[in-house]
Amino acid sequence: LPGASVVGESRQATLGVLGGGQLGRMFVHAAQALGYRCVVLDPDAISPAGAVAEQHIQADYLDSFGLAQLARDCDAITTEFENVPALALETLAGMRTVAPAAASVAVCQDRAVEKAHFESAGVPCAPHAVITNDIELAAVDPALLPGILKTSRMGYDGKGQVRVSTAVELAAAWNDLKRVPCVLEQLLPLKAELSVLVARGADGQLVNYPVQQNLHRGGILSVTEVPAPAVPTDVQQQAVAAARQVAEALGYVGVLCIEFFWLHDGRLVVNEMAPRPHNSGHWTMNGASASQFELQVRALAGLPLPEPRQHSAAVMLNLLGDLWFSEEGGPTPPAWDRVLALPGTHLHLYGKAEARHGRKMGHLNITAATAEAAHLIALEAALILG
Ligand code: ADP
Ligand code: MG
Repeated sequence: LPGASVVGESRQATLGVLGGGQLGRMFVHAAQALGYRCVVLDPDAISPAGAVAEQHIQADYLDSFGLAQLARDCDAITTEFENVPALALETLAGMRTVAPAAASVAVCQDRAVEKAHFESAGVPCAPHAVITNDIELAAVDPALLPGILKTSRMGYDGKGQVRVSTAVELAAAWNDLKRVPCVLEQLLPLKAELSVLVARGADGQLVNYPVQQNLHRGGILSVTEVPAPAVPTDVQQQAVAAARQVAEALGYVGVLCIEFFWLHDGRLVVNEMAPRPHNSGHWTMNGASASQFELQVRALAGLPLPEPRQHSAAVMLNLLGDLWFSEEGGPTPPAWDRVLALPGTHLHLYGKAEARHGRKMGHLNITAATAEAAHLIALEAALILG
């Protein structure tokens, strides 16, 4: 696999990414910093990653011409989102180095398969039942209620989820979800939500970042804090061990994020995983010796993967389009000059032309010498943002 060996030589190595969103954009930035050319394949004419890559192939993910062009122009290819058709990755894998593998991504695409993988890896997840037909619906254990009915595929940011309290509500919710395959999960009493990012190379080298504590609003990640406030060391160690186990059991290559629920009774259960850098890992761009995107590039290109070190306490605030709209209307951008006047603030905008409610426009990282200091500056920043 051409990696560092070809950087600086006459033919510059090229990395490809399926998907043109903000995760692809930050991958491209990291790859370019390491000396690679980048090609983005995305169906949209304008995309955050397509705008910064050397080349943008505007094609559908299953367009055979587009995929052939991507394979021709790239030495290695990755994906920035888990819902890329597995067939696209399989097709590319026949021609080029692809990481993560189609099989790993396929596990992450289906909640039922994903939960089966967690269980086979010996990592506990929420009590649940798979519902694909009326017999399974009728057989649901009432102990799973109240629960959350989630579509097995294509859910993100809380989409495709319905809270249900009774068997009647469950049946109605499944009808509303068009009777697609679903997973019913017991509603768990969450003390906190955590996530762990790992990166694994094709040679089996496996590294991880410290435990991240995440606060969601309206199903979308809002704030990440690292170190995780008030999470005991033994729970953190358990989360890291579980994340590493899940990655090993998949033979995973690339960056993988595993989300956990920490329950009021002290138990830790795994929620879901993403086969790519994750919103909760954006703090690594300013708080760690290497960002999650740099590790994604390194894993893909076969470069060394040293253990990343957190050098600053960090808080990440997600910047949704809602911040562009005030009582007076909008859209007008927040007062960046006031935010950037605070010490240790790092603004990352994704180059999206239009602000919309719920749309991820960027994030603000706050780094400081101590968690308390980072927390206080984050509060000040949040007040300015409104
Ligand atoms: P998504 O793919 O949309 O991120 P998740 O399964 O992570 O879906 O669910 C989104 C959010 O809903 C979680 O971050 C958590 O806040 C809440 N949630 C999901 N499942 C449960 C559960 N079993 N018990 C309690 N809260 C849950
Ligand atoms: Mg989630």
